[in-house]
Amino acid sequence: MERSSILNKTTCPYCGVGCGIEIATDEQGKTTVRGDTDHPANFGKLCSKGSTLAHTLVEEGRLLHPKINGLRASWDQATQFIGRQFQQILDQHGPGSVAFYVSGQLLTEDYYVANKLMKGFLGSANIDTNSRLCMSSAVAAHKRAFGEDAVPGCYEDLELADLMILTGSNTAWCHPILFQRIKAAKEQRPKMKVVVIDPRKTASCEIADLHLPIKPGMDVKLFNGLLHYLAEHHKLDTTYIADHSDGIHDTLTYARQDAADLDQVATACDLPVQDIATFYHWFAQHERTVTCFSQGINQSSQGTDKGNAIINCHIATGRIGKPGATPFSLTGQPNAMGGREVGGLSNQLAAHMEFNASDLKRVKHFWKAPNMATHAGLKAVDLFDAIERGGVKAIWIMGTNPVVSLPDADQVKRALQKAQLVVVSDCIEHTDTSAFAQVLLPAAGWGEKDGTVTNSERRISRQRGVLTSAGEARQDWRILTDVARAMGYSSQFPYQTAGDVFREHAALTGLANNGKRQLDISELETLSDAEYDSLQPIQWPVMDDMGSDRLYGNGRFSTQNKRAQLVPVRSKPTAHLLTQQWPLALNTGRVRDQWHTMTRTALAPPLTAHKAEPYVELHPDTARIYGVQPHSFVKVSSQWGTVTLKADITDSIRPGDVFVPMHWNDQWSRNSRIGAVVNPAVDAISGQPESKHTPCLIEPWQPQWTGFLFSRKNRAVPESHYAAKVRGEFFYRYELAGTQPVHNWHDVLEQLNLSEDNLSLLYEDPHSKSYRCAWTDEAGIQACVFIGPADSSTIRDADRGWLSSLFAKAELSPLERKALLSGKSPAGVEDCGRTVCACFGVGEKTIRKAIKENNLTNAAEVGQLLKAGTNCGSCVAEIKGFL
Ligand code: SF4
Repeated sequence: MERSSILNKTTCPYCGVGCGIEIATDEQGKTTVRGDTDHPANFGKLCSKGSTLAHTLVEEGRLLHPKINGLRASWDQATQFIGRQFQQILDQHGPGSVAFYVSGQLLTEDYYVANKLMKGFLGSANIDTNSRLCMSSAVAAHKRAFGEDAVPGCYEDLELADLMILTGSNTAWCHPILFQRIKAAKEQRPKMKVVVIDPRKTASCEIADLHLPIKPGMDVKLFNGLLHYLAEHHKLDTTYIADHSDGIHDTLTYARQDAADLDQVATACDLPVQDIATFYHWFAQHERTVTCFSQGINQSSQGTDKGNAIINCHIATGRIGKPGATPFSLTGQPNAMGGREVGGLSNQLAAHMEFNASDLKRVKHFWKAPNMATHAGLKAVDLFDAIERGGVKAIWIMGTNPVVSLPDADQVKRALQKAQLVVVSDCIEHTDTSAFAQVLLPAAGWGEKDGTVTNSERRISRQRGVLTSAGEARQDWRILTDVARAMGYSSQFPYQTAGDVFREHAALTGLANNGKRQLDISELETLSDAEYDSLQPIQWPVMDDMGSDRLYGNGRFSTQNKRAQLVPVRSKPTAHLLTQQWPLALNTGRVRDQWHTMTRTALAPPLTAHKAEPYVELHPDTARIYGVQPHSFVKVSSQWGTVTLKADITDSIRPGDVFVPMHWNDQWSRNSRIGAVVNPAVDAISGQPESKHTPCLIEPWQPQWTGFLFSRKNRAVPESHYAAKVRGEFFYRYELAGTQPVHNWHDVLEQLNLSEDNLSLLYEDPHSKSYRCAWTDEAGIQACVFIGPADSSTIRDADRGWLSSLFAKAELSPLERKALLSGKSPAGVEDCGRTVCACFGVGEKTIRKAIKENNLTNAAEVGQLLKAGTNCGSCVAEIKGFL
């Protein structure tokens, strides 16, 4: 392959699958993306998020210049200011008073420099990452079992497995391309069995032979029961156990004490005995078993034990590091693993070294570090507690949004209000977190950043800076390097390029390694700049210029005695129990087409249509008990906070559980930031929060009015009690509801901060409190507002799809003008409904109509007719639901 064509290849910035992408800009400056057919993660395929990346490459919302106290500053002023402030706080209060909070969105080179600066030069290990919220329990489980944070398998194993277990993982939505690979493998080998273990019937159940809707928190019980069953049925690999592991006696004793009786396991997990028996039987029968686990396991006060309960079953059957046989932690973020490689977590050093005397001495020497941290730092939740209490005074937040994503998120606000210094580097100017920043630093965004990421199968891929950075945005590693130099450490931070940083990181992985740590890419420390630029995706460890697809296949692990450790675990209740006051279990997670706190995905119109507003999923029985109607407003409260959302009543969730997506925040909604409701309990070992279980209460919320605003111009989210902003291709839509009755037309305009000037169309009925109006000019429609009483059918049934389409027109026809304030399209114009297929923009009503009129019986027929579901395939489960 030509080097120039390689240089247009990069990696998707969203999930941990780490798909390869080709990016091209034509002569008119239009950028397009497509899947990289050579990349071994995706072989050319992309999901809805990856394939719409070009939509996010806009200047809208970008932070373009450094700012200090809201005023534009030069880079030099900003870096000098940060260096001075950090030094003053260090001098006055010591190393424990400063902290960095970083992100799995950073590249490995960024992470490396941040970690080095904090742990080697500021003298503290208070650098933690949002990966703490995502997979630190898996990290802790790996270290306990294998002696190192290493995923033994590779993606090919998912295709080779005869039994695929997806536990605590809605792979179809959260790792879509991996799901498509599993699905394709199952289609080729229908004998392959898939078991989904999840309290919710998610889209991943589309291919499940067995779905176990387990009671939240009961995973240790289920896997302890499995281990006991395997022992009782003589299905353990006793030779492997004897030759390669420790701890079988205690582990089996614990499993027996916890889960010997199948009926008791079934009752505790709230599952049919027969289904558990089937699962156990299948596991016993299939040598080639892969257990994929993700946030549903990790985000728990017992997340580490859950990971070990799974891994125990694999060690005890010798199913580790063999083709089609491995436990497999699916990483949430694109570079959560790269961050762990360089010590992005506060309890790791760098290059998988630990806070022990010999590792500290080695790294100190390697870095020529004057102020080496001596012990582990604060983990995320503890870190923000320490800020609020005043122990930590300066925090630099990079590429993450903790005011939205951390549990008890209002506590994070209080902490940031109290901090002496808050620095935020981000590519987006206005986030819920940047609102608290004294210093704002513009970071380069995707397509501009240059470095490497490591995906869930340990594969290092290049993210290449193909595009020119917006404004004065800079690479994160460079911003950090400049601050380090401003603090007097120029010689230890000599980097000119990302390649310089990578080579140093690679060299450190080989330091006194001699096979002790699997993470060894020291062969890459001599890459030239050109070789680094054209580096092909490669899995660590790198030996003899070759990557390694599987680890531990020879039964030798990273522990001191080279034996795997079975870890005795017992099931425990969740940290907070349901009570009369808080009787429902709140679960949080992702939706298919949004990423994290929406700073980028909300900019892509094809991604905003699938789930346009924040919602809560409820079982019909739960809805009946609490008097909640479909699509009505619901307040979800816990002892930590309250949000207001729309009800989505579905039998895909267990009665008594509720599910709320994690994404919405104050930039795109009002009173919908679910992090404020989530409890801050953490796993005692990993420090990962229990985001999957918060006792809560729901109650219907009755607004005084509802409505919506369409605007060609981007506006701040109105201050109404409920608001959800949706970006379309030519407009912004704001769904609204309020608590104060609207008495007259002027109230409406005032509440929405709109001017009466140039109003073109107006309908006003004070008696029914209905107000509708539109602004049009020679460039077409500019805005329209519909406001009505809470039960207004005009508001509820207004054809938003048709109203959206008017913004694509240069002028309205007389018919359209006439119909506008009715909210109904003139005859002959079809309402397509909510978008289901984001890749081809096919709506629910279109699909339902096509099924009915053409007697379609399967998703393939729908695909043939409408193309829906034929690209990334993420919507096929939903189409099957309509069928
Ligand atoms: S599966 Fe993940 S990495 Fe691949 S395109 Fe989708 S979001 Fe990006």
